[in-house]
Amino acid sequence: MFEKLKILTDAAKYDVACTSSGVNRDSDGTGIGSAASCGICHTFSADGRCVSLLKILMSNVCAYDCAYCVNRSSNDIPRATFTPREIAELTINFYRRNYIEGLFLSSAVVGNPTRTTELMTEALRILREEYRFFGYIHAKAIPGADTDAIYRLGLYADRMSVNIELPSEKSLNLLAPSKTRGAILSPMTFIRDGIKESSHEVAKFKHAPKFAPAGQSTQMIVGASDESDCQILRLTESLYKKFGLKRVFFSAYVPAVSSSLLPSTDTKPPLLREHRLYQADWLLRYYGFTANELLEEGENFNLYLDPKCNWALAHLESFPVNVNKAPFELLLRVPGIGVTSAKRIVSARRARALDLQALKKMGVVLKRARYFIECGEKNSDVKLTENAIIRALLSDVSYSRLTSKQMSFFDAQPEAGGEEELKSLLGQF
Ligand code: SF4
Repeated sequence: MFEKLKILTDAAKYDVACTSSGVNRDSDGTGIGSAASCGICHTFSADGRCVSLLKILMSNVCAYDCAYCVNRSSNDIPRATFTPREIAELTINFYRRNYIEGLFLSSAVVGNPTRTTELMTEALRILREEYRFFGYIHAKAIPGADTDAIYRLGLYADRMSVNIELPSEKSLNLLAPSKTRGAILSPMTFIRDGIKESSHEVAKFKHAPKFAPAGQSTQMIVGASDESDCQILRLTESLYKKFGLKRVFFSAYVPAVSSSLLPSTDTKPPLLREHRLYQADWLLRYYGFTANELLEEGENFNLYLDPKCNWALAHLESFPVNVNKAPFELLLRVPGIGVTSAKRIVSARRARALDLQALKKMGVVLKRARYFIECGEKNSDVKLTENAIIRALLSDVSYSRLTSKQMSFFDAQPEAGGEEELKSLLGQF
């Protein structure tokens, strides 16, 4: 059993659609606790609580041969499959020991998608009906499974997800020929409609069955194929709009298999790119940005500046923003002002004019925001240029120094190793 557990928790670590951060840190025996990149992951509930989940595959014996996947049928690795009862018992035993608060269950395709979904459903049935487990469960729907099987799974799960896998149909055809865009989008549509219908029923009848009440999410792999960040972000935006997803997760491709169709195995996972996509995803969901505002056709994000700063620098004509007058939507576009601080500003300025000290107390990150705001103090006559702000943001040049004399970007030599960084910022390559 332990060997199976090792194989199937390790095989599950490539799936990030549950909000997890993989890190390995062994205890040296003198302290308490240790971290492992597989086994237990974390997710956040609607009220912001962090919940630890047992993250596991039902099986890694896969009928498919997706080029990017460590579990693909042609890969020579140890294989294992849990029975539904084993999954249920593991979960409940871990729960009783207080190791976990819920389960994240996925699986390779055991035989065919419907059969796999039925096995997963049976595991959840045992947990919910026999063990009376009321904890959080996230279950993966397997594309290609029939809708009855997906529906039954959704009656036991809190959240469901269907992985979109790759950002374009072309890449899907090339790297995962057993999967089609249609077979992935069809369960997403079914789950979206099932959630909507179920929430109407639950509103009308107290005991109506709940179908995936915590919504659905998806994951896509970044860096295994050649789509630009613009393409990925546009797809993300349309997934939120069409399927009402709770989250789109990005997974930096970890080159675990050697294939002429993929980046070589010594390529590092594009973690910073993944991070920029998460920042942009945040801007789509909470800051009122659209994908087209953030990137143009074929573009990738600037790896040195976050997407909001990058946008602000490309739109200096919209700044400085007067924090005592600007509408909420414009405050949200200022680097260093988050949703909470924008709300605080709007509420506090009804009573008095706000100065930098007041903004600081409200949580505004002045180190970033001060280049883009004015708040009643006499503004410097110096018009800050894009280059000067970039330099200041990167090197922490103080605002007073910057405004006491307009700095030219080429006033000083870039620090050793910084020349390429600065060129990149200016779009010179
Ligand atoms: S279906 Fe493809 S991605 Fe999923 S486990 Fe099998 S080979 Fe891997």
